[in-house]
Amino acid sequence: MKQFLNFINGEFVATRKTFENRAPVDNRVIGLVHEAGQAEVDAAVAAARSALDGDWGRMTVVKRVELLHAVADEINRRFDDFLEAELADTGKPRSLAAHIDIPRGAANFKVFADIVKNVPTESFEMATPDGGTAVSYALRSPLGVVAVVCPWNLPLLLMTWKVGPALACGNTVIVKPSEETPATATLLGEVMAHVGIPKGVYNVVHGFGPGSAGEFLTRHPGVNGITFTGETRTGEAIMAAAAKGVRPVSFELGGKNAGIVFADADFDKAVAGITRSAFENCGQVCLGTERVYVQRPIFDKFVQALKEKAEALKIGPSGEPGVGLGPLISAEHKAKVMSYYELARAEGATVVTGGGAPDMPAALAEGHWVQPTIWTGLPESARVIREEIFGPCCHIAPFDTEEEAIALANATDYGLATTVWTQNLGTAHRMARAVEVGLCWINSWFLRDLRTAFGGAKASGIGREGGVHSLEFYTELRNVMVKL
Ligand code: NAD
Repeated sequence: MKQFLNFINGEFVATRKTFENRAPVDNRVIGLVHEAGQAEVDAAVAAARSALDGDWGRMTVVKRVELLHAVADEINRRFDDFLEAELADTGKPRSLAAHIDIPRGAANFKVFADIVKNVPTESFEMATPDGGTAVSYALRSPLGVVAVVCPWNLPLLLMTWKVGPALACGNTVIVKPSEETPATATLLGEVMAHVGIPKGVYNVVHGFGPGSAGEFLTRHPGVNGITFTGETRTGEAIMAAAAKGVRPVSFELGGKNAGIVFADADFDKAVAGITRSAFENCGQVCLGTERVYVQRPIFDKFVQALKEKAEALKIGPSGEPGVGLGPLISAEHKAKVMSYYELARAEGATVVTGGGAPDMPAALAEGHWVQPTIWTGLPESARVIREEIFGPCCHIAPFDTEEEAIALANATDYGLATTVWTQNLGTAHRMARAVEVGLCWINSWFLRDLRTAFGGAKASGIGREGGVHSLEFYTELRNVMVKL
């Protein structure tokens, strides 16, 4: 049986308390995870602090950048190990993890190392009242010991998205991966040790949220800042923990994202785009589209086309060729998604396709499979339209005017992402300005340039990460004023 240990001060650390790690495809136990208690979290924080005060804190930027490139190269060298680990934990299609999760996981180290190497700081010269001159310049110093609390949907990618810039900026980190997906964070410990990242710079503590590693870590007074991706409700709990000591937070939270398709869109591309945004990763993408609004002249044709696409998605385990839809992450999450499938019926939805669980072969029958599902006919007040489901499902409603589309898209507490499909340049730019989100895609979805800002408006987050924006969170800017 595989054992997932904590990684503290450069060593793998076992604990007496373990919990099971199960495969989403068949619910088989694939490993035991060693849960960190208060003592392990204390040790990780102490190790992270002493690395900051030691070799890591004194290292030149050039050397740090070199080491982070080595981390990326080593992830790529061990690509298959990372891929297998991620597939076992998530059950997602191999093609998806091989093209997105693992390569981007590696890229996150190189991109941010290069940004930190090249980014300038500001400088001003000014005349002083005594007729002299003063020069100001800015210095960036690391935030310190950073807690990185991660979700399960893109485990390596979303974790390195934070660890990459945090380390590039000279911080030390303690990662708390999701209890559902402990593998790749643990494997990264081997990579860090192999390439010579000093002890205590990268630490991993396993466990749950409340009453476990997540809470111990985010409440720890030795942690200088917390970066978190996950549910909005969890963000509220972590923010309360961070209030003690007035510690900064960077939050990437939930969404209830709108997809807006105008009648003048390239129809086939729009259908393909919404198929991805609604169903990719079995709908377990924070940026995914659960509310689709289609302009009335093409509404019926669009619903029919999306139905055909959904029904053509092959459901199955990672390795099977042609699979487009894996399982949900856990039995608990399946129960949540299925409860929304029931609720949609109770709220009066027309089920265009899906709405249940597929029949799977006996070997996979215990897996967390659900059908891709499309609804129409619900009022905007329905809970299925208001609440984040995080499954392979969407509701499609018609609209007539641009103003109506904007009002529908913005009528939500969330503000993460929107995908807009139109061939009219004016419509595209007006929509981009009008939607209340952190990310607006035009004629695309999930297309990312890592130099650009990423994050959510309203209840979808606090702050922006990506490119130089990550530096704003992971460093403290100090102004130095020199009287000449
Ligand atoms: P979650 O909030 O349940 O858990 C995320 C992490 O927080 C886990 O590691 C968990 O153990 C930990 N945690 C839970 N309670 C805690 C507490 N009280 N204190 C400290 N840590 C705690 O989220 P999830 O189910 O893993 O992920 C799905 C959610 O993440 C969805 O809402 C999705 O929209 C969101 N998400 C957002 C983004 C984004 O970029 N905005 C990206 C991916 C996922």
